[in-house]
Amino acid sequence: MRLNSIPQEFLSPPMRCGKIICVGQNYREHIKELKGEEPEEPVIFLKPASSLIADGEVIQIPAGIGRVDHEVELALVIGSRGKDIPASSALDYVMSVAVFNDVTARDVQSRYRKAGLPWTLSKGMDSFAPMSPPLPLNRVEDIHHLDLELRVNGELRQKGNTEQMIFPPEELIAFISRYMRLEPGDIIATGTPSGVGPIRPGDLVEAEISTVGTLRNPVVDALKLG
Ligand code: MG
Repeated sequence: MRLNSIPQEFLSPPMRCGKIICVGQNYREHIKELKGEEPEEPVIFLKPASSLIADGEVIQIPAGIGRVDHEVELALVIGSRGKDIPASSALDYVMSVAVFNDVTARDVQSRYRKAGLPWTLSKGMDSFAPMSPPLPLNRVEDIHHLDLELRVNGELRQKGNTEQMIFPPEELIAFISRYMRLEPGDIIATGTPSGVGPIRPGDLVEAEISTVGTLRNPVVDALKLG
């Protein structure tokens, strides 16, 4: 597995990723397309660190799982340990930011959701967390006003701006750290704008966030990897 596109210092202790905390339903237009209701507080779920892949690596789709969707998101990489972090100093805990794709097995998620059961499997499969090389926070423009785009085979599917977040990064960090201690290497994926749609083996997924970078991942049938 090729990992050389994530800087070594990110992978080695103490910067190993311990947890990926994802935020659901953080953009109004995305909530509408999934026919959800606007949450009163952030909706949090986890992906295992084992689902993380780098720019250029392949998204593997297991056979028989139905529709799989892309979700472009701004990722925050935590640089220092913190608990009960106030929103006013939350960004001091962010070391870097990256482009993230919250790959989702949508049919699996819907099935579990309807049954009132946890849908962890739909989010946590191997390769379902592609992330670009992280860029230090001071090298990107204001993270509250960044354009996000996602293309599949060159066709524009998602377009949004981080200013459309219901809960901005500071509020997310304050909320999460009230309940879960944040540690160096943890990743927070801050939610996706509207336009989520299916990806299939043979597709090339390109996610881009202004000044942060571009994340490119080909999609393959997991069986064909051997
Ligand atoms: Mg998401």
